[in-house]
Amino acid sequence: MKERFLGVDVSSHSYEQLKKNVIDDINHKKQSFIVAINPEKILKAQQDENLRNLLNKATYQIPDGVGVLVASRLKKGNIKERVTGIDMLLTLCEQAEEHGKSVFLYGAKPGIAEEAKEELVRKYPGLKIAGVLDGYEKDEQKVIQTINESQADILFVALGSPKQEYWIVDHMDELNVSIFQGVGGSFDVISGRIKRAPDFFLRFGLEWLYRLIAEPWRIKRQIKLPAFLLKVWRDK
Ligand code: UDP
Repeated sequence: MKERFLGVDVSSHSYEQLKKNVIDDINHKKQSFIVAINPEKILKAQQDENLRNLLNKATYQIPDGVGVLVASRLKKGNIKERVTGIDMLLTLCEQAEEHGKSVFLYGAKPGIAEEAKEELVRKYPGLKIAGVLDGYEKDEQKVIQTINESQADILFVALGSPKQEYWIVDHMDELNVSIFQGVGGSFDVISGRIKRAPDFFLRFGLEWLYRLIAEPWRIKRQIKLPAFLLKVWRDK
């Protein structure tokens, strides 16, 4: 269930399949690693072999970004639905609540994960949050120990990309967690510190437009999209 763009794998699972797989993984004590893929990351990975290998090590590379959907269509692939990092996080919380699994929030500035936790509990009252820890704790051993003692099933790592992905791969073996997801700035968004696009923009797949208006410097990222699509199209 993978499609490859410029050397980087992307999973073609829908939300429904991902939900089922993740709960199965937890029940079978299987470790899985979720990474969000967008055109910017693929272009970066094309020039960075370590990053490429890292992204390809993930169990589920979710298609975050309309550019990946267009690339899949160009290649006659099957990726039809965008799965964003933050929506995957929310889906995992919903599944955790439903199936009695617990989550751990690791990352972001001091206090933010705590605020995100309160917001998640408001949204999913039955959700078990096994613990939170900010992303600036220097003592690695303390981080590992805190997470292990919490006995969390799912760990969200918000250290920014690709730092969080390297961190996950480096520490997976020492952690008795089943599902790992790198979630970037999601805790900042959930805590309300950063605003997500209004519903209108989300519904029409125009989140990029909203972000462009809110943060004009993003043009530097978005301008890469046509070049990405051209490369994919030419790639045999
Ligand atoms: N962060 C962290 N520890 C670090 C560096 C970054 O916890 O050593 C956090 C930072 O506070 C922010 C997130 O990582 O919450 C990075 O978010 P950003 O939106 O930059 O990541 P992206 O989604 O672009 O990968």
